[in-house]
Amino acid sequence: MIIETNKPEETYGFAKQLSEQAKPGQVFTLTGDLGVGKTVFTKGFAAGLAVTEDVNSPTFTIVQEYTSGRIPFYHFDVYRIGDVEELYEIGFDDYLYGDGVCMIEWANLIEEALPDVRTDIVIEKDLERGFDYRRITVEEHT
Ligand code: ADP
Ligand code: MG
Repeated sequence: MIIETNKPEETYGFAKQLSEQAKPGQVFTLTGDLGVGKTVFTKGFAAGLAVTEDVNSPTFTIVQEYTSGRIPFYHFDVYRIGDVEELYEIGFDDYLYGDGVCMIEWANLIEEALPDVRTDIVIEKDLERGFDYRRITVEEHT
């Protein structure tokens, strides 16, 4: 599935719609260059889970947990990870197969540690189509 947006509110709204149907145990990956809209997307996604806390990128930790919503939301940013071992130290599998929804930013860096069943989301710009244009590709991985 490919969605095209032309302003941040559209990206936010699409992410919100997507997570409104999310179920415990689902895993989403989120990939895209700096400034493409991953944080905008994640905030919309959290809103769709009815998370009331302010959602930001987990800068000092690998994972940020939000428990105010309909189901727990586990937001990973693995950009600074040195080795996948670090993931297992924080109990990665417990999150993946737990009672919440996982969103993993920069998942391409930990490809070998990802579960087979997941939804991959890629956000890209295309400057020929305008500065605020974004192409969001959603693909079921099995
Ligand atoms: P990232 O987390 O990927 O580094 P951010 O979400 O922090 O990126 O920033 C995306 C920036 O792009 C924001 O300033 C946002 O307002 C802007 N933007 C412009 N058009 C869009 C769009 N269609 N979708 C998402 N963000 C957009
Ligand atoms: Mg960000």
